[in-house]
Amino acid sequence: MNTIAERLEIARTNITNFARNCSRKPNEIQLLAVSKTKPLSDIKAAYTAGQRSFGENYVQEGVEKIQSSTELTDINWHFIGPIQSNKTRLIAENFDWVQSVDREKIANRLNEQRPNHLPPLNVCIQVNIANEESKSGVTAEQARLLANTINHLPNLCLRGLMAIPVNTKDKKIQIQHFNSMKSLYDELKSNIATLDTLSMGMSQDTSTAIESGSTMVRIGTAIFGAREIKK
Ligand SMILES: *Cc1c(COP(=O)(O)O)cnc(C)c1O
Repeated sequence: MNTIAERLEIARTNITNFARNCSRKPNEIQLLAVSKTKPLSDIKAAYTAGQRSFGENYVQEGVEKIQSSTELTDINWHFIGPIQSNKTRLIAENFDWVQSVDREKIANRLNEQRPNHLPPLNVCIQVNIANEESKSGVTAEQARLLANTINHLPNLCLRGLMAIPVNTKDKKIQIQHFNSMKSLYDELKSNIATLDTLSMGMSQDTSTAIESGSTMVRIGTAIFGAREIKK
């Protein structure tokens, strides 16, 4: 029954405590508030409570919110959903970040369609570190190639990697996958100076992700409450 402001505060306190527990600085870990399916009034409540980064999964819905909230200054909009190639223009023209880039064709289109008056679009590559068949995202090997491609596209700025958690309750397996993400991230970071973001960890696995080196956790339900199923 808490308000959005109270739940945000709890999420921030959790991040702070998880960071301290593994001797990391709390300010190394950003909170992305995942607002998909939630009304703009919820986003405004979080904004008033100091939240500036928001994640959206559906292009049309996200763009509508972005265009109706231009008075919210210094807000950062992250696209985190699957990308169809006929939607890249809307993403390039409206969002500040895209975390779900998983193929060269999409990267090229976003680069071509990013308007010149805007700063480069911040990009994370979505990695399917466990090679799960049902999941989108690239393998580690494909991520190396894609990182190199994106690094040469002038209207994109490669910021890092995004992982969707593996479907398991086994903490050991989870840690293994998070650690593989972290090694891949460190490897790419040693070659590409703009990398500063390892987006992994959601409500269920925030502490494990932070222990493994995450710099951004993505939390929806714990801040905004349960979502209705989207058709
Ligand atoms: C929905 C979503 C989240 C947030 O999930 P919750 O369970 O609501 O916290 C995080 N990351 C991605 C990519 C999502 O699609």
